[in-house]
Amino acid sequence: MTALALCASELRYRRLFEAARDGILIVDPSTRKIIDVNPYLVEFLGYAYEDFIGKELFEIGLLRDGAASQAAFRELQTSGHIRYDDLPLQTKDGRRVEVEFVSNLYDEGGQQVIQCNIRDISVRKKAEAVQSDAKEQRSKRNAELEGLVGLRTTELRLSNTQLQTFVYSIAHDLRAPLRAMQGFSQLLVQDHSDNLAPEGRGYANFISTAAQTMDRMLGDLLAFSRVSQQKLELVPVELAVVIQSALAACGTEIGERGAQMETLPPWPVVLAHEATLQQVLVNLISNAVKFVSSGAPRVRIHAEDRADGFVRIWVEDNGIGIPSEFQERIFQVFQRLHTTAYAGTGIGLAIVQKGVERMGGRVGLESAPGTGSKFWIDLTKAPLPSIPPTRRKGIP
Ligand code: ADP
Repeated sequence: MTALALCASELRYRRLFEAARDGILIVDPSTRKIIDVNPYLVEFLGYAYEDFIGKELFEIGLLRDGAASQAAFRELQTSGHIRYDDLPLQTKDGRRVEVEFVSNLYDEGGQQVIQCNIRDISVRKKAEAVQSDAKEQRSKRNAELEGLVGLRTTELRLSNTQLQTFVYSIAHDLRAPLRAMQGFSQLLVQDHSDNLAPEGRGYANFISTAAQTMDRMLGDLLAFSRVSQQKLELVPVELAVVIQSALAACGTEIGERGAQMETLPPWPVVLAHEATLQQVLVNLISNAVKFVSSGAPRVRIHAEDRADGFVRIWVEDNGIGIPSEFQERIFQVFQRLHTTAYAGTGIGLAIVQKGVERMGGRVGLESAPGTGSKFWIDLTKAPLPSIPPTRRKGIP
């Protein structure tokens, strides 16, 4: 390099050194003393240029002691490079600032020199601190909210249980006076109708019919309360057996309506509470044979294994169907779509949903007006129980 080129290069280096927006220190490795410092670092730390010259950095701003500084020099001599992502410095007016510190050992034509680059990261650090503060606050608030939700859930559960107990005891206690009304109105109709004018006989009949309806409603309410509250132990239940029992329980309705019942094996084994499952199936089957506008009801019952570990049991009918906007609502207590044409209490499907939920399953349906309904329940598939095959009763 010519003397002129060397001079130009030196000038370029100088301009960079003077204009840099990072602090730069030049240190003599043999004495560890600062021999040059750029204007940015002078201004950043608030000392005069002369204050730096001939000092070690820990004597002017670095918040580390001499021993740590010596260790850093030894490392620099060995590896030629050191870097700290987070080093504390102190300005002349006592402010603590965080810097990123990179130090390199260079050989300049046989003479060694250390160049340290110092970048102010206080703003980034502050932002990080604010962020972590906010995060801490958020997680504290979340923990508080979770606690509150837990408390409210416990309170709700408690009041729900109290409410269910209350419903149960009301339904139970109302039955006794109701039975008296039912019995005496029937006695009036049967034994004293001669003494009554036709109008009076009509009234006595109304009382008797209303009392019977109310008795059915109370009976269903009691059944709903029982399904909601009783302890259910889930065991492997053979669908073949429980479907047969449900069909037998609906025998009178099936016979009266001339319903054609089709049951399609195979029947897997599910995890369930047998009495509850039977009640669920009875409710679905009796609806399937009931909600038909004309002709004989045709009902198909079958089950399918699903990939998610559930068995889906279908009860399908050729009845009047249910518009999609009512398909959620009908599972609520006392919700009935067809109040005049078909008898009922509006609790059957609420029992179905509650019972299936309590057995860890889910319910649903596919239906449209005029095309029949396909109700389904999902229950967890279970391994076959170890009952000798001869003792198993099944349906074909
Ligand atoms: P209930 O049968 O005593 O009226 P449910 O709770 O069993 O009460 O059913 C609620 C309502 O849902 C019924 O009143 C009826 O309107 C409708 N529903 C239930 N099952 C069927 C079905 N298979 N086909 C058509 N409508 C049905």
